[in-house]
Amino acid sequence: MSKRKNAEASQPGAQAEQNPPSSPALVTVGPHAFSLHFSPLRLRRRLRAWYTQHARALPWRGTRDPYAIWLSEIMLQQTRVTTVMDRYVEFLLRFPTIHDLAVAEEEAVLALWSGLGYYRRARMLHRGAQFVEREFGGKLPTTVARLRMLPGVGDYTAAAIASIAFGQSVAVLDGNVERVLLRILGQAEQKSTSARGRLLRAAQQLMPPSSRNPARENQPGDHNQAMMELGALLCLPRAPLCSQCPLWEMCKTRGEHPTGPRTAMQSRTAAHLLALRKRGVVTEVLLERRPMDAGLLPGMAELPPLPLDAVQGREPILRLRHAITNTNYYVQVFSEGIKPGGPSAASLLKRVLATPAERSWVATSHLIQQPLTGVTRKTLQRLNLMSVPKVAIQPLP
Ligand code: SF4
Repeated sequence: MSKRKNAEASQPGAQAEQNPPSSPALVTVGPHAFSLHFSPLRLRRRLRAWYTQHARALPWRGTRDPYAIWLSEIMLQQTRVTTVMDRYVEFLLRFPTIHDLAVAEEEAVLALWSGLGYYRRARMLHRGAQFVEREFGGKLPTTVARLRMLPGVGDYTAAAIASIAFGQSVAVLDGNVERVLLRILGQAEQKSTSARGRLLRAAQQLMPPSSRNPARENQPGDHNQAMMELGALLCLPRAPLCSQCPLWEMCKTRGEHPTGPRTAMQSRTAAHLLALRKRGVVTEVLLERRPMDAGLLPGMAELPPLPLDAVQGREPILRLRHAITNTNYYVQVFSEGIKPGGPSAASLLKRVLATPAERSWVATSHLIQQPLTGVTRKTLQRLNLMSVPKVAIQPLP
C-alpha cells in the first residue's frame, strides 16, 4: 500500500446513502470524476448478501477489539492470509492487550514476527502501542485523523481500523478493492496519484453511512471487508471468477482489466554457514546479528553469511528459494559438521570468524525466542532444528 495523503479530509458521513437508490450517481469531486452507472445502494445490497454467505471464517473476523483489528491489518499488509492466521493468534496470546505489547522487549516482538517479513511493521506496531499508552491512555483513537498519528499507520490502515472497529463510513482502497473498482467502472490500471484519488472518491461514494452502534451492526466495516473479500476470492488478478460474482450485472469489464507491465523479479544467490556444537545434551547453533544500519532486515538474526568464493566446489546440505519483494534469493546452506567426509568444517567457520560481526551460540530450544529472518527460520525448520508451536485457530470472541 503506497503512502497517501491523509484521507481525513474526505471524512465520511452519510453522503453515500443520499443518492436515490435507483438512479445512477456521479462522483462529484474533481473535474475528472468517475461516473457510476449503477446505484450504490444496489451494489451494497448485493455485496452484503454475498459476503454474509461466503466470507471466510478468519480469526480476526467477528472481533470488535480495536487492538486485535489493528494487529490484523498490520500483519496482512503484503502477507498472505494463510501465513498470517496462526501467527496472529500466537501474537495475541503472547501480547493480548496494547499495554502488554507496549511494555514488551522489541526482541520478543520481532521473534513472534519471524517469518512474516517486513519487520519494520513489527517495530512500528510496537512503537505504536507505546504511543497509544502515552498519548491516548492505552485506548486506540476512533477517528482517521488521530489514528494517522500512530507510527506505521497510513491512510489505508487508519480507514480500516476506523470502519471495522468503530463503524466509521470511510472507504479503504487496497490492491483488491482497487482491482474490483477498476473493473466495475471499466477502467484500465493507472498509477498516478490523481487516478488513485478519483478511485478513492468512487469507493467513498459506495460506502454505507456511519454506524451508530458498531457493536450491534457495522455496515461500513462489513462493506469494506466485503469489497476486499470479493477481490481476494472472485475478482482475482488473473482469470476472475465472474460467473459467481454478485456484481456481474453492474460490471463493465467482466474479466481482466488492462494493466501496466509488472516489475520483473530479480535473482540473487546467497550462501550461509550452519555451524553446530554440543554442550552436554544441548545442541547450539551459531547465529549472527545483522547490523542495525543494514538496509534490509536490520537487527535480525541469521545463519552467518558466507562469501560465494568460499563455497566454490562444495556441496550444500540444503538449497532453497526465498522471495523478498521483487527479488528471489537462491540460498545454499553449508555445514560439513552435518555431512561428514567433506573438507574441514573449520575452514568455513574461519572465514566467518575472520569478519567482525555480532555472533552468539544459541541453544536450538531457544531459537523460537530469537528474531530470526524468514529464510533462517525456514532453513532451521527444514533441517528439523527448530519446531514451531501449533496454535489452535478459532474465531475470536
Ligand atoms: S464480474 Fe468479474 S471482473 Fe467484474 S467485479 Fe465481478 S469478478 Fe470482477
